[in-house]
Amino acid sequence: MTASFPHSETVIDLGAVRHNLSLLAARAAGSAVMAVVKADAYGHGAVPVARAAVEAGATWLGACSLQEALALRAAGLSTRLFSWLDVPEADFAPGLEADVDLGVSSLGELARVAAAAERTGKRARVHLKIDTGLSRNGCPPADWPALVDAAAQARGVEVVAVWSHLACADDIGHASIDAQAKVFAEAYDAARAAGLDPIRHLANSAAVLTRPDLHFDLVRPGIAMYGLNPVPTDDDLRPAMTFRSEVVLTKRVAAGSSVSYGHTWTAQQDTTLALVPTGYADGVPRSLSGRMEVWLGGRRCPVAGRVCMDQLVVDCGDDAPKAGDEVVLFGAGRSGEPTAREWADKLGTIDYEIVTSMYRPRVVRRYLGERA
Ligand SMILES: *Cc1c(COP(=O)(O)O)cnc(C)c1O
Repeated sequence: MTASFPHSETVIDLGAVRHNLSLLAARAAGSAVMAVVKADAYGHGAVPVARAAVEAGATWLGACSLQEALALRAAGLSTRLFSWLDVPEADFAPGLEADVDLGVSSLGELARVAAAAERTGKRARVHLKIDTGLSRNGCPPADWPALVDAAAQARGVEVVAVWSHLACADDIGHASIDAQAKVFAEAYDAARAAGLDPIRHLANSAAVLTRPDLHFDLVRPGIAMYGLNPVPTDDDLRPAMTFRSEVVLTKRVAAGSSVSYGHTWTAQQDTTLALVPTGYADGVPRSLSGRMEVWLGGRRCPVAGRVCMDQLVVDCGDDAPKAGDEVVLFGAGRSGEPTAREWADKLGTIDYEIVTSMYRPRVVRRYLGERA
């Protein structure tokens, strides 16, 4: 643990991020790579991850909002940067001043971007989003011709790209993928017919790994860059996040001793318990109580009883852990430690949610493999 004595920390391996980014860039050879660093880089830290991704060959960064995009600029990142989901009150002017490319899904949004371009005297670079079937943001096909025409005529606006997002790319062969690709092709053709010459981008991580026909000019991987594979391919992705804590106290207890709130667990024989100062306030889901293990002393040990707000107790059997011993909650899995995927499977969710939920004020982040 670091000098500030945090109770638990996430260790982010930037070497793994660079490795994964290079692997994705090789899969998408011929396309540029946008490293998606929204939501504080899925809980890994936007600025260090963005730097690592750029070092490994990303020539674009993707942020969900201007707030996120401007934070990257403020940290000194000058890479081409795309922001795609802003609220109606958002002022696009600072985005244009900071050279941020903007996603546009509607005439209203286009008008606000064009107004900001006029006000600032800056040319707005917009990426027109067609809703090809995800039904979140994006322009419905029926409204697309009007949006394309308006964008082609808007002063101070340059249409850089036509783009969209896939609903079921992680379900290989799902019929919606081809259906979305077809709508995408039609939208692109309409933009060309309106005199525009945009690039195209569509692929998230799953499509980078499984649909080379959908890579187009630019791909937008997120989760795979963090080493979590959304599709069952054997690509050598390396999970970048390890969640760890340490033993603060051990005790030998007699058979029949019960542990933690509600006494849901009782020792069947004499055993050694290890107290670990991390709990649901730090990202250990309470609903994993009674069904999780940690990596301690070179093996998996079950957590005994309920996960508390600040603490959990590990049943170490006849092992003799010491105060200060490392406890891995989840990691890359290479030694046999639990993984974020394992937590997600138990909880009925996806590993995206596990790592993204690790942005916690009490959990300190530490980086490995930072370059000067
Ligand atoms: C989050 C996101 C991505 C990245 O998706 P992954 O599944 O994490 O690769 C790409 N594009 C858009 C628009 C997104 O919102």
